[in-house]
Amino acid sequence: MADIIQLLPDHVANQIAAGEVVQRPSSVVKELLENAIDAEATVIKLIIKDAGKTLVQVIDNGKGMSTTDARLSFERHATSKIRTADDLFQLHTKGFRGEALASIAAIAHVELKTKQQDDEVGNAIIIEGSSIVSQDVVVTPKGTSISVKNLFFNIPARRNFLKSNAVELRHIIDEFHRVALAHPNISFSFFNNGSEVFNLPTGNYRQRIVNIFGNKTNEKLVPVEETTEVLKISGFVGKPEFSKKTRGEQYFFVNDRFIKSGYLNHAISSAFDGLLKSDLHPTYFLYLTVNPQTIDINIHPTKTEIKFDDEHTLYALLRSAVKHSLGQFNIAPVLDFERDPNLDTPYNYNKIEVNNPVIEVDRSFNPFKETYNSGKQTTAFKTQTLNNWDSLYVGLESKGNDFRKEFSEVHFESEESTESIFGSESQVEQVQTTYQLHNKYIVSTIKSGMLILDQYRAHQRILYEDFLKCMTIKEGMSQQLLFPLELHFSTTDIEIIKQLKVDLEHAGFVFSNIYNDLVEIIGLPINIPENEVRNILDYLISDVENEVPDSNFSATDLLAKSMAKSLAIKRGQSLKREEQEHLVNSLFACKEPNVSPNNKVTFITMSVDELDKKFI
Ligand code: ADP
Ligand code: MG
Repeated sequence: MADIIQLLPDHVANQIAAGEVVQRPSSVVKELLENAIDAEATVIKLIIKDAGKTLVQVIDNGKGMSTTDARLSFERHATSKIRTADDLFQLHTKGFRGEALASIAAIAHVELKTKQQDDEVGNAIIIEGSSIVSQDVVVTPKGTSISVKNLFFNIPARRNFLKSNAVELRHIIDEFHRVALAHPNISFSFFNNGSEVFNLPTGNYRQRIVNIFGNKTNEKLVPVEETTEVLKISGFVGKPEFSKKTRGEQYFFVNDRFIKSGYLNHAISSAFDGLLKSDLHPTYFLYLTVNPQTIDINIHPTKTEIKFDDEHTLYALLRSAVKHSLGQFNIAPVLDFERDPNLDTPYNYNKIEVNNPVIEVDRSFNPFKETYNSGKQTTAFKTQTLNNWDSLYVGLESKGNDFRKEFSEVHFESEESTESIFGSESQVEQVQTTYQLHNKYIVSTIKSGMLILDQYRAHQRILYEDFLKCMTIKEGMSQQLLFPLELHFSTTDIEIIKQLKVDLEHAGFVFSNIYNDLVEIIGLPINIPENEVRNILDYLISDVENEVPDSNFSATDLLAKSMAKSLAIKRGQSLKREEQEHLVNSLFACKEPNVSPNNKVTFITMSVDELDKKFI
């Protein structure tokens, strides 16, 4: 039989390699920025159009390339950065695989202009799908400009796979942040569709962070510094009180390279143990410097995961350094989330005379003789019970939650409730059709057996359908705010809000101004309490970040989900019986009661038959 194995032509091999290096426009951004840094540029400009789908251009003032190098740079495994395998363990550059430009040129239209310091003129090369279209001499400033146009023009499947502009832009901004945060000594600017998104002057780490995430960030940062034989740590962690529900700013850099490491992330979270509630995420910007010989960067084509020789020591050092900083800056003792404000003594009590408690004992009380609710308890007992009862409801109204309001208006003033607390037991038995388990599940009886529903998910479903209805029927109904609500966001988040502005307005939000790191809101959708707006917008932004499944997502739907997520009664909240019943009834009045807005099961049932089987 004839031989059948052939070497793939270069352009095909390059296309295949491109799949590893270039997944989306942001991958191009990363590679080009890193090349500019390796070329020792001090000023770097990033220009994109249509979230990088039509254009990604990086202009630097670095050392440029000679005529031959300019041509060679597009060859696969062509690199100026390493010569032998040993060099892999002495890396001081971002790139070393010599794959990026070859891969990018295989799947886009690329224009390169470059000139070295001492050359009179520079070189321009145009290359499309790995083939050179032209190479000319040009007049161009010192440095390099590379434009990458029409990404994936020759691989429609990949092009169709790209997400909406909002999502792709978000990825690009993420990459830009990662590179810019690691190099505060380089000045960066970033233009999207002709308008400037970032202009970052040189400075120190703190200044760079503040320039990117907004002035408010400054007061949130706690410095972390530690130098040991194996490792130098510097950077910042966010004060616990500024932690977010959505995974916010978490950055690790190792030798100026952004890396992802679940393991080291865990080291930080554990340093925050006891300071953060479990659903909050710490913010951090940590810069580690290690001997390049102790790490292996070569395990991942995009080099965002690296292998450390001694991960355990690193973990321990990192954890203790962060703990130390939090302690040193007195963060730890101030915060006590579990503190019950009802136990605080109001300040003006310090002048009030202390009354010695009087203990009244009903000596005739016989628990076996009289029923619990006979009304013969001593007054002391009664008042005490009522006080406790009262405190159960402290703060509920202020939740601003509609579901709550409905009830607080209707029943359960604590005085009235006296009757029902001490009312006859048989009466209570009759109305009890629901029971709350561990403050998170509602158990209810149904004809065939029993039903257990997850209160958080169920309420999300109810609110979600409500909001959707409101937004589509009474489109844009909003309540005016007395004073404008000012909310600070990072520039990135502001970009997302700008993209969603029209949809937010449809839902009833009214913006008076959107600045670089601040939004001013003067109207809110009906039913949305002011103190929940921050949460809702945070959820919304994080949903967009987390790549909403398809590119044509409906912003209205997303917004309804975010509002539901943020306003629904959470797990851990105790509910009155009426509230429990209302929850069950409202859920089953929904169009799709079975699942939460995020397609998670809202309830399960267990039939008497199934129960019977368990008792065999
Ligand atoms: P790598 O960065 O892994 O070496 P690339 O394909 O990204 O591989 O780049 C190939 C080579 O082209 C680099 O080694 C470098 O010599 C040269 N090069 C790429 N971009 C620039 C730039 N902006 N300025 C100067 N030289 C560059
Ligand atoms: Mg490179």
